[in-house]
Amino acid sequence: MTADLLDGKRVASEIRAEVAEKVRQFVRDGGPQPCLTAVLVGEDPASQVYVRNKSRACEKAGIDGRTLRLDAETSQQELLETIQTLNDDPGVHGILVQLPLPVGGNQGKGFDERAILDTVAPLKDVDAFSPVNVGLLMQGRPRFLPCTPHGIVQLLHRCNLSVAGKHVVVVGRSDIVGKPMAMMLAQRDGSCGSEIANATVTLAHSRTADLKSVCKTADCLIAAVGVPEMIRGDMIREGAIVIDVGINRVGDKLVGDVAFDEASKIASAITPVPGGVGPLTIAMLLHNTLLAAKLQIQS
Ligand code: NDP
Repeated sequence: MTADLLDGKRVASEIRAEVAEKVRQFVRDGGPQPCLTAVLVGEDPASQVYVRNKSRACEKAGIDGRTLRLDAETSQQELLETIQTLNDDPGVHGILVQLPLPVGGNQGKGFDERAILDTVAPLKDVDAFSPVNVGLLMQGRPRFLPCTPHGIVQLLHRCNLSVAGKHVVVVGRSDIVGKPMAMMLAQRDGSCGSEIANATVTLAHSRTADLKSVCKTADCLIAAVGVPEMIRGDMIREGAIVIDVGINRVGDKLVGDVAFDEASKIASAITPVPGGVGPLTIAMLLHNTLLAAKLQIQS
């Protein structure tokens, strides 16, 4: 079998065009220009690239994308106060704290990431990290959906793939990707309807016994691990859908968590790296920023 390529780049650009049109409509109807402020602490080169890409994507969608740059020496208290100021600013609709925060920041003491993310006002929490937004998702009445898993839901839907009644194995249980992904696909209903929900989900991790056998039972296998090409061909069931969230730099190449050449001979559909899940994350961030602006004029 040669797998169909799930073109995340194409789907992301479709979603970005839709968001741009909705932003124009929102502003035509008298709404404020949505504004996303990214808080970037320190000089990490990868984070600088991510923030620059987000800000460019905002511009193209008609969103005001700002970046607030803070020194790595900024203290925990100063960072909390900065976020509080953004919470109180009615001109800022979405706040994004770029992760990871510098390890040696906060004058060598490191930052308390949880306390910082918890400070972002839930109505401005476009990454959907706040306990309120996580709780709403858990209860099946989400406000903001986390960008990467939501991008995957959109990708499956727009490629006419269903997971309802199927067995989905998610490898990786991070708060950002794995856990919300599992939760979203196990719900009765989802942002793209009941076909991209209602799955029987297994959430695997580094303590899962016999990961190979577990993966092999998946109709849809989602890898969010951060280990280059650890999902090999012999871990994939014939005809499975394979979604590779991983972005790993190996030398001068970006590779996923899935051994693409092996997997694409066995799977029925697969995301490439790059050009698969990555572009969707930014598209859904734009979607959430517009949603945040809409929610704030209603509140
Ligand atoms: P984390 O490091 O937070 O989590 C990794 C998860 O993988 C953990 O749950 C860990 O298990 C599990 N794991 C690690 N090693 C193994 C193993 N050998 N077998 C089984 N499970 C294992 O990663 P993230 O979720 O933040 O990111 C995962 C990958 O996705 C990374 O490559 C990252 O760059 C990428 N990513 C891509 C995005 C995109 O836009 N495409 C967005 C976010 C992330 P345990 O909990 O037991 O430690």
